[in-house]
Amino acid sequence: MRYPYMFINLKRIEKNARYITNLCNKNGIEVVGVTKGCCGMPEVANAMLKGGVKFIGDSRLDNLKKIRRSGYNKELMLLRIPMESELEEMVDLADISLNSEISIIKKISDIAKDKGKIHEIILMIDLGELREGILIKEVKDYIKQILELGGIKFLGIGTNFACFSGILPTYKNMKELVDLKNELEDFFNIKISVVSGGNTSALKLIEDNKLPAGINQFRVGEAILIGRDVSRNRIVPGTYQDTFILVAQIVELKEKPSVPTGELGRDAFGTIPKFIDKGIIERAILALGKQDVDIKGLTPLADGIKIIGASSDHLVLGITKSSQEIKLNQEIRFKLNYSALLSTCTSPYITKIFLPD
Ligand SMILES: *Cc1c(COP(=O)(O)O)cnc(C)c1O
Repeated sequence: MRYPYMFINLKRIEKNARYITNLCNKNGIEVVGVTKGCCGMPEVANAMLKGGVKFIGDSRLDNLKKIRRSGYNKELMLLRIPMESELEEMVDLADISLNSEISIIKKISDIAKDKGKIHEIILMIDLGELREGILIKEVKDYIKQILELGGIKFLGIGTNFACFSGILPTYKNMKELVDLKNELEDFFNIKISVVSGGNTSALKLIEDNKLPAGINQFRVGEAILIGRDVSRNRIVPGTYQDTFILVAQIVELKEKPSVPTGELGRDAFGTIPKFIDKGIIERAILALGKQDVDIKGLTPLADGIKIIGASSDHLVLGITKSSQEIKLNQEIRFKLNYSALLSTCTSPYITKIFLPD
């Protein structure tokens, strides 16, 4: 096998999905498994389903298409509010989408009617995160218009936190969403079946018993994929983090000074690197670089290995403190954070291998 490659432990992803789904289901919440962190790998979608998620959501139609073509036969949700240029394809591929623009919703309705379909939407509400969503003052006007559309089923309301501005979901803002749902049901005399409260960052509210009743859907990616919650920089209790493992090979192993010699300019990325003098250290170079993966998101699995820095194609490790002996040509393994997972999955230079059970 040629390095670098990534091992994908489907069994652990399935176990993560089962743990998260049980936690949510006990609290009356259904889980949409989100696969965008791994480019919608159908194998991962399948592991999530085996673990109990209700159906799959992804931000990109290309990913939804891959999943559909793999034989998947449940609902699919498009997470990113749709581009006008993808509406036709979206109505063909996705059963549900998240939306925030009335003109687009009307176009979706027309397209769905033409195709003899009904497309389901969740209206996104911005409760302070300032990414997608309409403001509360616009909600009634929007819903009034949506309810008149023949090609649309108004499924419910949703919100998203901790992705763009880093605003955390709390009892207070989740309660706002539930109160809004109740008010809208009374005002329009309708039943709103879905209140889609959030993503991985909202799991903490369940753990702490601080989620208001009435939220009934979470869209969860990160916690299932890598068992982490980046919004609070924490591990999600009960999950595995070593689900995706990046493996690279050592191409140089030498003792060298810890500080470079010569006149210091900028590195290949325009920054002036800083070095601390620790005398002569043992250094290993891996054939892996910034062109392959977001280096900042890597954590070596073995003890005593430190990432000193990287250029496009080389990753320099300090291995003086390594507990095991390290040799030239040896492989080094890393765990990934969300950002490293995204970059590894999109990298054409990294082979992906699914571990057998
Ligand atoms: C990415 C995304 C999610 C999933 O977020 P995680 O933090 O990975 O759980 C949920 N909803 C929307 C709208 C998203 O874009």
